[in-house]
Amino acid sequence: MKRLRGIGVSPGVVSGRAVILIQRAQVLRYQVGEARLAHELERLERSRERSRQQLVDIRQRVALRRPEVASLFDAQLLMLDDPMLVSRATDLIREQRVNAEWAVQQVFREFTSVFDEVADAYLRERKGDVSDLVGRLKMNLQHGVATLRDLLRELDEASVIIADELTPSLAAQVDWTKVRGFATDAGSRTAHTAILARSLEVPAVVGLHNASEIVGPGQLVVIDGTASEVIVDPTAEVLARASHAEDRRPASGGDAERRRPAVTADGVRIRLEANIEFPDDLAAARYAGAEGIGLYRSEFLLTGGSGAALSEDEQFEVYRGMLEGMAPGPVTVRTFDIDEDQLESRLSRHPLAGGWAADEERASRQGLRGLRLSLKRPEPFQVQLRALLRAARHGQLRIMFPFVSSVEQLREARRMVREAAAELARRGEATPPVPIGVVIEIPAAAYTADLLAREVDFFTIGTNDLIQYCLAVDRADERVSRLYEPLHPAILRVIVMVRRAAVRQRIPVSLCGEMASDPALLTLLVGLGLTDFSMTPGAIPVAKQVLGEVRSGDLRALARRILRLPTAEDIERELMAALGRLSLIRE
Ligand code: PEP
Ligand code: MG
Repeated sequence: MKRLRGIGVSPGVVSGRAVILIQRAQVLRYQVGEARLAHELERLERSRERSRQQLVDIRQRVALRRPEVASLFDAQLLMLDDPMLVSRATDLIREQRVNAEWAVQQVFREFTSVFDEVADAYLRERKGDVSDLVGRLKMNLQHGVATLRDLLRELDEASVIIADELTPSLAAQVDWTKVRGFATDAGSRTAHTAILARSLEVPAVVGLHNASEIVGPGQLVVIDGTASEVIVDPTAEVLARASHAEDRRPASGGDAERRRPAVTADGVRIRLEANIEFPDDLAAARYAGAEGIGLYRSEFLLTGGSGAALSEDEQFEVYRGMLEGMAPGPVTVRTFDIDEDQLESRLSRHPLAGGWAADEERASRQGLRGLRLSLKRPEPFQVQLRALLRAARHGQLRIMFPFVSSVEQLREARRMVREAAAELARRGEATPPVPIGVVIEIPAAAYTADLLAREVDFFTIGTNDLIQYCLAVDRADERVSRLYEPLHPAILRVIVMVRRAAVRQRIPVSLCGEMASDPALLTLLVGLGLTDFSMTPGAIPVAKQVLGEVRSGDLRALARRILRLPTAEDIERELMAALGRLSLIRE
């Protein structure tokens, strides 16, 4: 038995088998029982074969245009059969009874430590190839396993999460009916985690420094949030005491609780909608208590098994199903937000079409994408618009355009909507008027929000992109991830500016970036005057709980103070201190 001392941030005692989540490396490590060992080995083998097929296809394509580059892929194909890689991962799965993702990650670490020591520059460069290949193997292991939630569903027993860090967006994906509590290495800096734990009503201990290294996957662990400790391999007596305490935990809220609308402690109504990627996510959104779909990322329609473009009728069926499924709540469909390469690859049954992650990596973030591409390639856009307008009869549809940087683009897009409606009218199909909005995610749109507001029915602030373009920080580039700072004064100012333009023009404005999924940031956004949000479905219950504990008057005063602060660090400190005073978090 071993006791680890930390900071209890959410009271209660629970026990369970440890699942180790290393957020930094984006891998989950869990114990694989005897019965599932063969399954795990097979997953790895299938990932190797998928990777091989993809590399052969890419090599062929590249060889046509740039034969000198094709040899890079030969190197990766050879590595795929190197005994140091997949075979070594197979051994690790067998010996340590761990999941394939973890084994592959572990092998990568062994590999890179060797590479770092060699002086030869050529060999050191090969590290990039290994990294690429390992990334591909991990991506292909995910094939058929959509989210962390699905992975956690595969666990056999009640478990607890031991993580280096647990971000709100990650926590939102966890099935908390299975996971009983959590403990993290990180401490007070991620005070957001504390809010989260209390809202989820799961015992939690943070600030353990190295628990994710000390605790092994599958090890029995007691998390005592009241006594601020984690007990590894507890004695029978300690375990019995933990189980006794666990039995007395109050049951958490049921259906009615989830459907309750979000209201602050002083009665301000906040609208919470869901961001979804697939039509199947609708059930999760409803279950979480979403009042509507605030962002449907429709480009995911193009990632289906066939990779081929969906016809107008097929798209119509998808949109209709979604509108009927969400009724009477609204569904906001964002028209395709992809770039030219992605569109090509999806329309022509690209070998990489099986994985969004691969496309994502190659996405041109400042190029011909979103509405710009739709205007340049009007045919797929017209098909989508016609399908949408036809579906509009079946519920409350709103259409919004991504990546708008000028009023001209918006006018052109509106003209295309009229054209689609005219075409349907010629076919004898009348369509109802549909509210049209834009995602404010490019600084140029934010700075001209007053002009755009005159010509649209609503705004949605897309902070994921807005942050990256305002701060010139690529949101997918790990090397600058510390600069990707939602609390940068520039970001708060730009949000205030967009909201003001919308209020002046009397059009609704919501915010759909990841920021809204973080309960601490959400309270600040309410303080800045926003009342409509769209977020990952799993974040909605937590958001409701947190909002119910704060007074909007206090938040407005807090926001006023914060808007005068010069750095993100000052802002975060002020925010956390204020939430602490409001007893939302216990320091
Ligand atoms: C955004 O940019 O904030 C957004 C919600 O869209 P996406 O993450 O799909 O770019
Ligand atoms: Mg965006």
